[in-house]
Amino acid sequence: MPRLVTDPGVGRFARLLLGGATGGYGVVNALTIDVEEYFCYAYPGDEFPCQRWGELESRVVPQTLETLRILETHGIRATFFILGWVAQREPYLVREILDRGHEIGSHGYNHRLVFTQSPQDFRSDLQRSVDILADITGEMPVGYRAPSFSINGTCLWALDVVAEMGFSYDSSIYPLNIRHYGVPGMPAVPHELESGLWEFPATTVQVGPARMPFGGGGYLRLYPFLVTRWATHRANADGHPAMVYLHPWELDPDPPMRPRSRLHRFQHTVNLSKTRSRLLHLCAEFDFAPMGQVLGQFQAARAVPLGFAAAM
Ligand SMILES: [Zn+2]
Repeated sequence: MPRLVTDPGVGRFARLLLGGATGGYGVVNALTIDVEEYFCYAYPGDEFPCQRWGELESRVVPQTLETLRILETHGIRATFFILGWVAQREPYLVREILDRGHEIGSHGYNHRLVFTQSPQDFRSDLQRSVDILADITGEMPVGYRAPSFSINGTCLWALDVVAEMGFSYDSSIYPLNIRHYGVPGMPAVPHELESGLWEFPATTVQVGPARMPFGGGGYLRLYPFLVTRWATHRANADGHPAMVYLHPWELDPDPPMRPRSRLHRFQHTVNLSKTRSRLLHLCAEFDFAPMGQVLGQFQAARAVPLGFAAAM
């Protein structure tokens, strides 16, 4: 089972290391882009089968190029977690992302929820994506993001697989309970596991007695932007980097394919027309860098081992 070995209260080190480097709080946030098609969604029991993905119109190239253009306008570099299925079909896109100075990570191959897979299937899917990305870039992808943040308390073995395969970090966990997702009790800030793998959890903020997820995907679209803005400032004021994530398909307000269930359709499409303006506002107001760079600041400030058990 993965175990935490660094001080989760690393915020004070971030303040020391990054103080004065960025507006207001001296904290650089991690911007991450999950590169997949609009039809690669994965909700429990509500997926469009990957065997039929090739039948549908592809939009990932123009959507990702538009994402790159927006980031370039603001001089921002990010981490792109690329689905192996997409990379295999669009190797030019992977090289374009790399050539523009961004970091390459893996989003697995077939976008299957991790908690529905066996360890053997998970390893095979991840290895396939690694081989494709490494063949295109000549380098091992540095980080991993599970489809839909689907490493939960039932499949923490996946973190050991990610570590064994040579990744430097993982960013696949919500540190709270959200239906099928999340690992309650997991530290809410970047931390090192016993395996040496670093975990950069999805960002949450304490609101009264509860922790609230924010910063990416559906949450970025669902909440009024003022909430995302406030929560990002709140995390930075505590000395913690926030992690923002989005998908290139979220820049498209009218995707041709939507999930079947009404709830999933709402989650998948709510306020798609607002993604672009919210990304622009975030880029203009906050400082961002690839996740590996942000984690590098933390690794330079490693604290006293605590032996905290991350596994539930
Ligand atoms: Zn995804």
